[in-house]
Amino acid sequence: LEPAYQFMVRVRTPGGAATPAQWLVMDEMGRKYGNGSLKLTTRQAFQVHGILKWNMKKYMQEIHEALLDCIAACGDVNRNVMCNVNPNQSRLHEEVYTWSAKLSEHLLPKTQAYHELWLDGEKIYDGQEKEVEPMYGALYLPRKFKIGIAIPPSNDIDVFSQDIGLIAIEENNQLVGFNVAVGGGMGMTHGDTATYPQLGRLIGYIPKERLLETAEKILTIQRDYGNRSVRKNARFKYTIDARGLDWFKEELHQRLGWQLDEARPYAFKRTGDEFGWIKGEDGKWHFTLFIQNGRVRDFEDYQLMTGLREIAKVHTGLFRLTPNQNLLIADVTPQKKRTIDALLKKYKITDGAHYSALRRNSIACVSLPTCGLAMAEAERYLPSLITKIDAILEEFGLLETEIGIRMSGCPNGCSRAAMGEIGFIGKGPGKYNLYLGGDFKGQRLNKIYRENIGEEEILSILRPILERYAKERQEQEHFGDFVIRQGYVEAVTDGRQFH
Ligand code: SF4
Repeated sequence: LEPAYQFMVRVRTPGGAATPAQWLVMDEMGRKYGNGSLKLTTRQAFQVHGILKWNMKKYMQEIHEALLDCIAACGDVNRNVMCNVNPNQSRLHEEVYTWSAKLSEHLLPKTQAYHELWLDGEKIYDGQEKEVEPMYGALYLPRKFKIGIAIPPSNDIDVFSQDIGLIAIEENNQLVGFNVAVGGGMGMTHGDTATYPQLGRLIGYIPKERLLETAEKILTIQRDYGNRSVRKNARFKYTIDARGLDWFKEELHQRLGWQLDEARPYAFKRTGDEFGWIKGEDGKWHFTLFIQNGRVRDFEDYQLMTGLREIAKVHTGLFRLTPNQNLLIADVTPQKKRTIDALLKKYKITDGAHYSALRRNSIACVSLPTCGLAMAEAERYLPSLITKIDAILEEFGLLETEIGIRMSGCPNGCSRAAMGEIGFIGKGPGKYNLYLGGDFKGQRLNKIYRENIGEEEILSILRPILERYAKERQEQEHFGDFVIRQGYVEAVTDGRQFH
């Protein structure tokens, strides 16, 4: 008898967009083959956990029927391209989304192996004619590669955490191009200071027509110069840090045959999502729904999965998975809004209004029990820790003050914990490193404040800091800025100063 091996399967959704029909298929997959739930990830993708090995092929074929796939959702290639979810700027948003989808398609590996393995079983490579992978070559990239597009003033995608971070630049509400930042990335290894999270660095501006070409050339520099001997140092950030930004720019300009312009002015106001109904420029409505840690399932007193299924049956717009594990029910016509509103009420699906501002700005990775790399709990633990921190916040009148809190079960950083104003990275069962000083706008890393501590210490350490924050903060001062001003930690704007 073969053991019941289980798998997690991630589905690629550029810009986090899924049609209602696709939502219904993913909902069915989660219940039929998975553990009865869906996880909306921090890269705007679906994950289904707990798929038994003998169901894998059926799963792949059924999502294929719904025009979904897992190509490049994992592996040493360019991953899901992230894109801002901003219903306020729908025309601009629409165009940026189109570019994210084009970029995703452009950077897909060309191999037919996925189809060969999962779809019809027919052998496409017969051993005679060699399949050519024009961009990735025979060896692909040294490590995974991540791209995201932000539209200021929202930095919901954490643009500086990406290998290539693109900042949309508009004129008269029309997209004209992108500022390009390179070499961001969250992962590190505990106890190895040669590894660190890093922020992307701005290298200039490109007109939108040059996006595909620029991204491809950047990716090929990493293909050719990335560290293939030490996997822990194989991410693009280390390639840039080892050789210098000037070397990188020169190499890029040489490969492009033209130079990037000076980066254009932009300003971010926040990370995270804003919740509830918003009317877009085109008169359509958009509802951003808070989903704690991206877990869609039916809870005892909250029929979230069932409610969303019923909404998907009548919805004629799109679902947009946000970069913060929440969900946008997008492009709702005024006629449909009434129906969807009734369903939201029927299933008590909330926009997050009755959660604290801390919870609304929380992100936790999957971690235990399904992630093989996990050292400590994240998704299953953060909600209860927040309840305890909320009690402190309430005492000091901070319940509605927005503070970004993130927890990862290991230093791989899937929740982008190194950018949280309060960050936790798992060390062992019940133990975390506590990091402070990230920036609410997503432009700074945090720094370690206490190592290897459990819940009691976490609460006793945070309490006096939060009390001082309540009493001594300046007007509009965010928590991450306050802890730096007060000297709890130093500001980190270059990952090499993270440790
Ligand atoms: Fe797993 Fe670590 Fe990623 Fe969490 S951060 S999902 S524990 S790899």
